[in-house]
Amino acid sequence: MTHSQQKTIGHFIGGKKVTGKGDRMGEVYNPATGKVQAMVAYATQDEVKLAIDAAAQAFPAWSSTPPLRRARIMFKFKELLDQHMDELARAITLEHGKTISDARGEVTRGIEVVEFACGIPHLLKGEFSEQVGGGIDTHSQRQPLGVVAGITPFNFPVMVPLWMIPMALATGNTFVLKPSERDPGASLILADLLAEAGLPAGVFNVVQGDKVAVDTLLEDDRVQAVSFVGSTPIAQYIYSTGTARGKRVQALGGAKNHLVIMPDADLDQVADALIGAGFGSAGERCMAISVAVAVGSIGHALITKLTEKTGTVRINQGLDEQADMGPLVTRQHYDKVKSYVDLGVQEGAKLVVDGRDFKLPGHEEGFFMGPCLFDHVTANMRIYKEEIFGPVLSVMHVNNFEEALKLVNDHEFGNGVSIFTRDGATAREFGRRVQVGMIGVNVPIPVPIAYHSFGGWKHSLFGDHHVYGEEGVRFYSRLKTTTTRWPAGIRVAAEFVMPTMK
Ligand code: NAD
Repeated sequence: MTHSQQKTIGHFIGGKKVTGKGDRMGEVYNPATGKVQAMVAYATQDEVKLAIDAAAQAFPAWSSTPPLRRARIMFKFKELLDQHMDELARAITLEHGKTISDARGEVTRGIEVVEFACGIPHLLKGEFSEQVGGGIDTHSQRQPLGVVAGITPFNFPVMVPLWMIPMALATGNTFVLKPSERDPGASLILADLLAEAGLPAGVFNVVQGDKVAVDTLLEDDRVQAVSFVGSTPIAQYIYSTGTARGKRVQALGGAKNHLVIMPDADLDQVADALIGAGFGSAGERCMAISVAVAVGSIGHALITKLTEKTGTVRINQGLDEQADMGPLVTRQHYDKVKSYVDLGVQEGAKLVVDGRDFKLPGHEEGFFMGPCLFDHVTANMRIYKEEIFGPVLSVMHVNNFEEALKLVNDHEFGNGVSIFTRDGATAREFGRRVQVGMIGVNVPIPVPIAYHSFGGWKHSLFGDHHVYGEEGVRFYSRLKTTTTRWPAGIRVAAEFVMPTMK
């Protein structure tokens, strides 16, 4: 099939699907077959400006819509997401490659943010103080920002957009989404469902594309705020460019998440946790565990258990309900992950399980890689310092708790971390002193529930706010404070000194 005969994934602007006008297109693969299954239009600057125009025009009416009416649209949207769960999960699996059960989990975690946003009338209630001075009251309120943009990564094509969209819309903003060009299909399903839920045209828009689309969003002064999730170099770029133009920016970056195993931990539980958190979604999760830190003498037994359990991971195309792990997202990403495994061997780490030559019968062209397990990884190796984002788990050995803590705290990234122990005091001390945003105690992937907030530290997040939860409400709104006096017939004389309470 030639590219011109392929299905084209376009934009959603002002309530309508728009086929891209530009001549630049990207290929969207089915990672399980290795074949191109669609083309995605890359938006031109003019197309992105049209989306911003639509969002800017929709803002006055949408921001004046009572929060309860906005919440009712979120309720309806949640109901439609439930009804379309399988369609969304299938769209994710076909373009991303992750297993269908994992894709359903992704949609569910996204729906939870919509559920939280349904409470927006309560969340937007301001504060009121009576009699701050004689006859004077003060109230504070939160108001929407205007047009806001979301730029999202390939690894959660539904959940990450849903970290942003419900919060931004419920608080009264209008939105332009720029999804990942590698799996853009689900974004248009979200646009359809929002329209069906009753969202007015122009409030939510999607532009597909690459740096051209992103830079146009960053350069346009009508875009008040940008939420970004993706790799650290791009997060840093988005943060510095956006804030230099006076925008509010939250930019979430890459990760290298450690799981610390104390000598008293239940080894079977630890091994199961590591296999699931290391190889689930083929390691393409920002909260995946990529480093196991064995404290004391537990390391040898851990490697034996991990080797055994790694052999039980079921690899298949993602639509197979029994599969534990699917392919990587693209050939290019497969090559990158494989080159890191090659590098680890050159750097002197011991490759205990080698998944590089894995081929799935009948899917030889798919981007499948088997789980890889490295032992004796050290802190100076690039496979430890850099994010691999594939099914590669590194084991490191340290002598005691302090060394484990130092290792985690010295790392460039600080997204998630976990400790497995039976000792409450050790867990508490770890949680208090570790320099990481999200912590699990005997929980390998501590992604906070929607009524808390998600975000890392250090080079895993640039900006002041985490995403969703009350942090999301704050990010997408700004504070206004009014001080009021109703003189009731008494003339107030000119005052030349700083007002103080009388
Ligand atoms: P990416 O940085 O390549 O792309 C993210 C977005 O930025 C995409 O929409 C892409 O089109 C755009 N983009 C890419 N290059 C750009 C450029 N030069 N200029 C402007 N825009 C550009 O990330 P990815 O590969 O899609 O996603 C994987 C990364 O995302 C990993 O690093 C992972 O850790 C990270 N991630 C982080 C979190 C988190 O919460 N911290 C969550 C999910 C993913």
